[in-house]
Amino acid sequence: MKKILVTGGAGFIGSHLCTRLLDDGNDVISLDNYFTGSKDNIKHLIGNPHFEAVRHDIVMPYLAEVDEIYNLACPASPIHYQFDPIKTIETSVLGVTNMLKLADYGKSKILHASTSEVYGDPMMHPQREEYWGNVNPIGIRSCYDEGKRCAETLMMDYHRQHGTRIKIIRIFNTYGPNMSVNDGRVVSNFIIQALKGEDITIYGDGSQTRSFQYVDDLIDAIVRTIQTGDDFTGPVNLGNPREFTIRQLAEEIIRLTGSKSKLCFMPLPGDDPRQRKPDISLAKRVLDWEPTVQLEEGLKKTIEYFRSIDF
Ligand code: NAD
Ligand code: UDP
Repeated sequence: MKKILVTGGAGFIGSHLCTRLLDDGNDVISLDNYFTGSKDNIKHLIGNPHFEAVRHDIVMPYLAEVDEIYNLACPASPIHYQFDPIKTIETSVLGVTNMLKLADYGKSKILHASTSEVYGDPMMHPQREEYWGNVNPIGIRSCYDEGKRCAETLMMDYHRQHGTRIKIIRIFNTYGPNMSVNDGRVVSNFIIQALKGEDITIYGDGSQTRSFQYVDDLIDAIVRTIQTGDDFTGPVNLGNPREFTIRQLAEEIIRLTGSKSKLCFMPLPGDDPRQRKPDISLAKRVLDWEPTVQLEEGLKKTIEYFRSIDF
């Protein structure tokens, strides 16, 4: 049995990860300040003697002896990370430094959740790990994009300078049950609007693209990544390479919910990337992994989840 720390354990992805790690027979501590996460996401784990939920902000140091650290703590949706941008960048820089110090102290492995946002508005399509990105350092998304880029730098420098055992994953747009109802991300927004019969809010003309990964596929990839040898640090792209326009996504959600909602077009937010699609050759080769849940199946499960909760 391994002792594992999951920061952001009460969040969307973190709650699925805690569940999977407990199912695999580990002892799990969730560390979360509940800024965007919720106790509802982990209520099924409370009472499990192998699970502890600790309220803590990773911007402050934390001490525990653990075998593995999965650092997921960070607001992830544009509305949430722009709510307090200084705190967002502190979480990526000071928070990640604290977790790296903890990994050094316990000689534990540390996996860090980076993002496709490190590619910014990409000039290379699809995006490969070698691409350095096209990021605005002073825009409204910079607190997140540049914070995550700096976190990757810290991870690599701790690895080179101290020999810290690191893994960096770059997650592309992920969706599924436990997404927060008010985080403004496109999948949750469109499903909730469709279920309420409200207009579907497309920002811009809806021709921008994203590639949507169902959360179960991501969790499988995360577990495979931590099991790789110490010589594999990443970064590795984890996403579903099937690319859709935002308009196609809206139409698919209307079809699957049977909603009478209409499309409405609103201004595109600043620095919104035009296109995004992962090249996952590295993950296929090193992790022997590729996503198996296609958009229709994943959306059906997510719609079922949103129908089951009171929003
Ligand atoms: P989320 O907002 O649901 O989860 C983040 C969790 O971290 C929340 O529970 C929140 O309360 C917690 N948190 C935030 N700041 C904290 C702090 N300073 N100290 C302690 N806890 C803190 O988001 P998510 O979608 O589950 O994302 C998890 C991670 O994956 C994030 O690091 C995010 O950047 C990354 N990621 C997610 C996606 C995606 O599509 N969901 C894509 C790329 C990267
Ligand atoms: N988007 C949209 N309507 C919404 C929410 C988002 O058209 O109600 C668009 C957004 O402008 C972006 C895409 O959908 O082009 C994905 O947005 P999200 O916030 O989910 O993720 P990110 O931009 O970080 O990839």
